[in-house]
Amino acid sequence: MSFSTPLIQLTDKGLYCEAGQFYIDPSRAVETAVVTHAHSDHARRGAKQYICAKTGVGLLKVRLGKNINVQGVPYGQKIRIGKVEVSLHPAGHILGSAQVRIEHEGEVWVASGDYKRDADPSCEPFEVVKCDTFITEATFGTPKYTWDKNLKHGLAIYEWWQDNAAEGYNSVVFGYSLGKAQRILSELAPYASKPILIYETIRDLTECYREEGRAIAPTVELRDRVALEEWAIQGDLILAPPSALDGNLRIKLGKYRTAFASGWMGGSTWHRQDSYDHGFVMSDHADWNDLNQTIRETGASRVFVQHRNGALVRHLRKSGIDAYSDEDLRLDNYQHLGGTNLSLF
Ligand SMILES: [Zn+2]
Ligand SMILES: [Zn+2]
Repeated sequence: MSFSTPLIQLTDKGLYCEAGQFYIDPSRAVETAVVTHAHSDHARRGAKQYICAKTGVGLLKVRLGKNINVQGVPYGQKIRIGKVEVSLHPAGHILGSAQVRIEHEGEVWVASGDYKRDADPSCEPFEVVKCDTFITEATFGTPKYTWDKNLKHGLAIYEWWQDNAAEGYNSVVFGYSLGKAQRILSELAPYASKPILIYETIRDLTECYREEGRAIAPTVELRDRVALEEWAIQGDLILAPPSALDGNLRIKLGKYRTAFASGWMGGSTWHRQDSYDHGFVMSDHADWNDLNQTIRETGASRVFVQHRNGALVRHLRKSGIDAYSDEDLRLDNYQHLGGTNLSLF
């Protein structure tokens, strides 16, 4: 490989592998898109062909349309795209989320996509993939974001729900429609003694999880319950995306308490921004410690950091790892990174 062309470069359409002529999570229409997972900032319309992990195909179709041209690849299976060998490995973020491993002439790069190391019954656990160069996300890439890894989320939410019910309140948990909602339903599966009422945007996505064999607590659609038994929502748990509840629905819910489930709860500022009765620290991204641990475990000698990269890049450099912002994967910048390190490749 030449000094001037990285195996994965950053372009205006996103990460691009020239040797394989495909993009990873492109932001615009392209020929071939390898998609790490179905969240909307990663999976976008307009690619002629999509490649994703096999267990993520259903979610991608719900998000992008059932007629998209998509190839589902089992985790760990190597496929050839152009001049490179590509395989997808579990990222532990949501169902079907994948890290992208690319091998070319003995050199291995991994693009992490979003990932977490915390246990999550709704998806395949993160796998450490050895590589020479690691492109890591860093949503929580500052030291203030660390959290307890031994929280029993299902039990905590269940107990909050039961306490509210005993006092005559319904419970509303806000979480994103894809990923967080299903993780909550999966964490609650061993406990829930009655169906959980879910907002309509959560339904089809949740079915994908069931189709992939994930244990999910029983659910009913909230609007069906509201239509059939207008005043019969009592001591129930309602799961909805943030700001889903309009005034009309709020009235029908009667007395209720709210909670928000998010990794942002792990920082110190959330309570100033939002007015929820309760917060569950529940992240689908790696915290500061897990970012650092993961980078070490990959054995990568070079690391490129996406999002919030400043603190992590500085920290990695202090610990002797060649670390850069993902902006340095743009061809112009990459050529100036420093010949001594790059000449190793
Ligand atoms: Zn995501
Ligand atoms: Zn993301």
